[in-house]
Amino acid sequence: MDAGSALIELQRIDVEILRNRKALEKIPEAAKVAEVRGRLKELARRTTKIVGLLKDQEMACRDGQEDREDLMRRAHDLERENARADFRRVRDNNAELDRIAKRVEKIDYDAEKAKGEIRRLHDLLDQSQKIKEALEQRERELLVAFRDSAKSLREDLGTLAAQRETCLASLAPELRERYAASCKAHGAVGAAQLDGGTTCTGCGMQLQPSQIDALRVGPDISTCPVCGRLLVVRTHA
Ligand SMILES: [Zn+2]
Repeated sequence: MDAGSALIELQRIDVEILRNRKALEKIPEAAKVAEVRGRLKELARRTTKIVGLLKDQEMACRDGQEDREDLMRRAHDLERENARADFRRVRDNNAELDRIAKRVEKIDYDAEKAKGEIRRLHDLLDQSQKIKEALEQRERELLVAFRDSAKSLREDLGTLAAQRETCLASLAPELRERYAASCKAHGAVGAAQLDGGTTCTGCGMQLQPSQIDALRVGPDISTCPVCGRLLVVRTHA
């Protein structure tokens, strides 16, 4: 096979590889897996937020209980002092005891509210865990289905990759480099041929007569003046 024919074969292989890769992405299960993974990520974000709120509530509860114990100790001391204090002192102590009672009442009220919130957050966490398990199960099922659907496409891609290597090996090193650079610059398909002597099969553009004339007197393998791909002008197959 001459270099021009090898390049034309490479173009066919590269187009086919591209088509198979796109088909792989379009397998319905692939989109569904992506969707399930998106939902799992969102769920993880929500769970982290719930855990944070839970910690805040539990800390507020603990702080409240510590304050309450301090207040109760103070109240106990005041009551003991009242037993042997004078009238004025007892009056002041009772006023403080009233204030303490109100603060304890407020702490107890807040604690009840916090406990309700903690229960609600625990319920949310349980729910999140169940949703997570269901989503992970769905993800596993989808991956199995995806692998089955993708199997033949992957096998074809393997065959094409081997054919590509064989073709590449037949090219002179300098041409192989030009071809690789062209592939990189043109979305994986780096070679084209002059179809009917007038149109580039890479970009599909009909060339100007002056461009065609220039190609006719030029080398077998040139460059498309429109898209810049390696252009097989003629082969010697
Ligand atoms: Zn072109």
